[in-house]
Amino acid sequence: MTPAPLPPEDALVFLDDDGSRVTLETAEALMFFGLTDGLDAVTVSACPTCRSRVVAAVALTDLLEREPFHPQAAALAELADEAPTLHLYVEDVLSDCEHDEWLDPGYTEWCDTLDEVPGVRRPAP
Ligand SMILES: [Zn+2]
Repeated sequence: MTPAPLPPEDALVFLDDDGSRVTLETAEALMFFGLTDGLDAVTVSACPTCRSRVVAAVALTDLLEREPFHPQAAALAELADEAPTLHLYVEDVLSDCEHDEWLDPGYTEWCDTLDEVPGVRRPAP
């Protein structure tokens, strides 16, 4: 194992239905989940085995007003505020999860949105 720290890497992508996005790096994503209790209060539907989820935009705006201490809080609040639908979509881009256990209508909605937004999904192997 190398002791050198990993370079910043995109870890979480927050998307709205228009394809607007805010990306958090690994450390930012960890901090954000720590500050927000894993986004528990704003999550509509989530994969049980990774951090991908559907969150309620209005609830996220409220949450960010209470927790404005994250470096990306302003950008996320703006994304949530301007979202064209009630939901935002979070993709855990570091995970290899296939979301096989995400058995919920939210998963279909999440997939549909990510499929429509170019440049989010990594190309299929
Ligand atoms: Zn998953």
